[in-house]
Amino acid sequence: MTSRQVRMLHRSCLAPRTLTWRSAPAAVLSSPTTPHAPRFTSSSTQEPPKIKALIFDVDDCLYPVTNNFTNHRLHEVVIKFMVDELGLPDAESAQELRAPYFKHYHSMYKALSVAASEGALPPLPDGTARSFTGEKLSAYYATHCRFADFIARDDGLLAALTSLKEDAGLRLLICSNGPRAYCLRVLETLGVRRCFADVDIFAVDDLAPACKPEAAAFAKVLRHAGITNPAEAVMFEDSMKNVRAAKALGLRTVLLLPDPDAYSNGQADAPDPSDGAVDVVLPEARDVRELLPCLWKGTWDPPVRK
Ligand SMILES: [Mg+2]
Repeated sequence: MTSRQVRMLHRSCLAPRTLTWRSAPAAVLSSPTTPHAPRFTSSSTQEPPKIKALIFDVDDCLYPVTNNFTNHRLHEVVIKFMVDELGLPDAESAQELRAPYFKHYHSMYKALSVAASEGALPPLPDGTARSFTGEKLSAYYATHCRFADFIARDDGLLAALTSLKEDAGLRLLICSNGPRAYCLRVLETLGVRRCFADVDIFAVDDLAPACKPEAAAFAKVLRHAGITNPAEAVMFEDSMKNVRAAKALGLRTVLLLPDPDAYSNGQADAPDPSDGAVDVVLPEARDVRELLPCLWKGTWDPPVRK
């Protein structure tokens, strides 16, 4: 560990913007769809696998949860969508229907798809069952979310991602439970759309019928990237469900946590930096250059904090 890293880790014990290192066992995935892959621990004679791909969640990951965009989308926009398009009589009943489904699926696209299949949506005026199409939600998000009011262009993130791609030679991918048209708007608003090839962006429409945290969703992205050993990939996430699922498959994990107090109101799936599935805690994705320099060497060799 360099003296600079020692100072950084020492500061992290005191400052709210913490970096937490944990030992990360290497693992292999015996089958792309195996939810819990057999693991092995690297021996001293084995070279740890090189990092080849970085997989990023979008919401509350590429931008900090503290900007309140997610709160705007999940409460203001989704509730209005359910009243405008799904026949809910008012915001209160929409919220009542939304809460348990979202808590379970952590994706409105998936949550409303399941709600429709279970007959939980109000019937159409002629009494027939109401259907739900993800395309409608995707288009509604893309046109009704006030992106620029909450998300700022992030030149620091752009510089870091560009360098990871061009200087470090890593493949950058997106794996999100948000709809594709919406995800593209977020990436454009952040100014990082150019960092991700079209084919490397997996929104919930691309992952369907699975979505995170289902193993099949992660496996689809890994297969696409040609990753046969998940320890060659790093998953950047704010959702504990997804961090745990990624770790169960053997991926390296980075938990985004800008401010623990941002999750203090009983929010579902709140980040837990003490969870054993978390390898590293980053305040914001843009901090990757300063706090995870090992990625530029294609390695995953963070020092273990005592
Ligand atoms: Mg997220």
